[in-house]
Amino acid sequence: MADSLDGTVALVTGASSGIGHATARSLAARGAAVALVARRTDRLEELAAAITADGGRALTVTADVSDAEQAVAAVVQTVETLGRLDTVVNNAGVMLLGPVVDAPVEEWDRMVDLNVKGLLYVAHAALPHLLEAAQDGPRQVADLVNVSSVAGRVARNGSGVYNATKHAVGAFSESLRQEVTRRHVRVSLVEPGAVATELVSHNRDEVQETINQRFSDMERLESEDIAEAVEFIVTRPRRVAVNELLVRPTEQE
Ligand code: NDP
Repeated sequence: MADSLDGTVALVTGASSGIGHATARSLAARGAAVALVARRTDRLEELAAAITADGGRALTVTADVSDAEQAVAAVVQTVETLGRLDTVVNNAGVMLLGPVVDAPVEEWDRMVDLNVKGLLYVAHAALPHLLEAAQDGPRQVADLVNVSSVAGRVARNGSGVYNATKHAVGAFSESLRQEVTRRHVRVSLVEPGAVATELVSHNRDEVQETINQRFSDMERLESEDIAEAVEFIVTRPRRVAVNELLVRPTEQE
């Protein structure tokens, strides 16, 4: 099949749950060997076993990508073990909401360190390999997919720093897209609306309550809905670059 990922290697950050987990599965099902990157090794091993049982190929890479050295090591380990790198899904992220006034600044550090700096470290380490894959790879094109959010498009009262991190992802992606697109590395931005994952559970109890109330009367997206969007992007023919995909639940305003 012309759009198959056979013979390619993908790296997915945040593969131990939610969107990253579903995306890794779907890329593996399309034929990519997948490096599963996150901190929880047991979860990654379970996913790798499931991918292998389905006839796919997976490598588990335990790493905290907000640490520059670990982010680089994750990319190096992937290329050394799987031989190349054609697709990167920069998905790991954390959303800690609440007012700016009196906010625990430690939460801001966690978001900036992972959503912005972690994504940058992985992109920087991966780019030489993606540029090479776009020249010599089976598909003559490579993909860097950055997972932003509706929050990267629209700022709201109560999510200022999360908004700031995701707007940063959008700005970086567009700049990098212009830099490398003539060399056939496609840089894409995926912006999900509310997806039913573990994301909300990392918030303080009172914040979780507020978020859950806001979405209580609507059907949220499934992780697989976003995995399909990523799969669509990375399986386009070489001439087609899907720059940006905004996917909301039907009922989300
Ligand atoms: P989850 O909390 O389910 O998944 C987050 C993933 O990131 C986990 O696999 C987690 O694994 C990993 N992760 C967290 N910290 C680190 C770290 N320091 N280093 C490496 N991996 C890390 O959330 P989602 O699947 O919902 O989120 C995925 C992305 O989607 C995020 O960027 C989020 O902002 C974005 N998004 C989500 C939306 C939603 O409604 N769910 C809406 C819009 C965007 P581990 O703990 O094992 O490290």
